[in-house]
Amino acid sequence: MQRTEFASDNTSGICPEALASFIEANRDNMASYGNDEWTRRACDAIRDVFETDCDVFFVFNGTAANSLALASLCQSYHSIVCHKLSHVETDECGGPEFFSNGTKLLLADGEHGKLDVEGIARLIAARTDIHYPKPRAVTITQSTEVGTVYSLEEVQAIGHACREMGLSFHMDGARFANAVAHLGVSPADITWRAGVDVLSFGGTKMGMPVGEAVVFFNHQLAQDFAYRCKQAGQLASKMRFMTAPWVGMLAENAWLTRAAHANAMATRLGDALSRLPGVGLMFPVQANAVFVSLPQMAVDGLKDKGWAFYSFIGAGGARFVCSWATTVEQVDELVGDVEGSLAS
Ligand SMILES: *Cc1c(COP(=O)(O)O)cnc(C)c1O
Repeated sequence: MQRTEFASDNTSGICPEALASFIEANRDNMASYGNDEWTRRACDAIRDVFETDCDVFFVFNGTAANSLALASLCQSYHSIVCHKLSHVETDECGGPEFFSNGTKLLLADGEHGKLDVEGIARLIAARTDIHYPKPRAVTITQSTEVGTVYSLEEVQAIGHACREMGLSFHMDGARFANAVAHLGVSPADITWRAGVDVLSFGGTKMGMPVGEAVVFFNHQLAQDFAYRCKQAGQLASKMRFMTAPWVGMLAENAWLTRAAHANAMATRLGDALSRLPGVGLMFPVQANAVFVSLPQMAVDGLKDKGWAFYSFIGAGGARFVCSWATTVEQVDELVGDVEGSLAS
């Protein structure tokens, strides 16, 4: 039997709050293409969460959210600074470059999967001549691809640097909920008040059936974005089924309660695994993902028992991701199987 509980946070089902409003939205006929009551309520709920009059759009997945958001910040001769481990670079099949008609991604290094101001500035200063694409934007991932979280001060520093250098600031928030739950800050403080112009706000991984929100805090950048979505095949005609889950999820802070649970499960898993002989944490566990280096016998033992997981960086590295649906029992079972395979 294949066990996919820790393979990713998108192997989980739909969380109850999202499912309840999804089912409620199925009761009546309604206007299509987002001109419906559920979509209006979802947009208002997002504006409430961010305490500002942002422009909100819904797309099917994170690749579309990131690619289209970045394309709206750049011309084809521009470039975008991102981390070399970023999803936009490694997992979107060239989507940002494609939808921007050729904007180049400039890759920076940085500890724990995070960009820092020095790294960004170095890359920007490296070339300023006409022969190189002109830097126009910075994108960071919050929480990161390796399960770490930018602190409020780190985001503010990058936001400040972007303003000084005349760059737009995008945040890939496929796991934004996990970051906010970890930091305990207001969503407004960690985004627009820190200088973020546009956020890809992840819905799928936090428990929805499908869909991400693209949230523009800068109205000017949102101009014509609806056309961009439509042209890219991202305008859902039965939009209410993508937006109703947001209404349920954002009500009474369910999204943060669920994300905090996922984070707590990852902390439990990381603590237990790191106590085992030969097992080492590769990154601090700050969100819902755990990266460990495992002895080969543990890797083999887990595969034998059917555990699916993503082998990420270097030999023996393994990624385990928790979700709203992860249980203490599942965590303990996984840990038990690692322990068992080490002893055998
Ligand atoms: C999952 C993920 C996305 C979105 O991926 P899709 O498969 O296109 O929905 C974007 N960014 C990060 C960091 C992710 O982990």
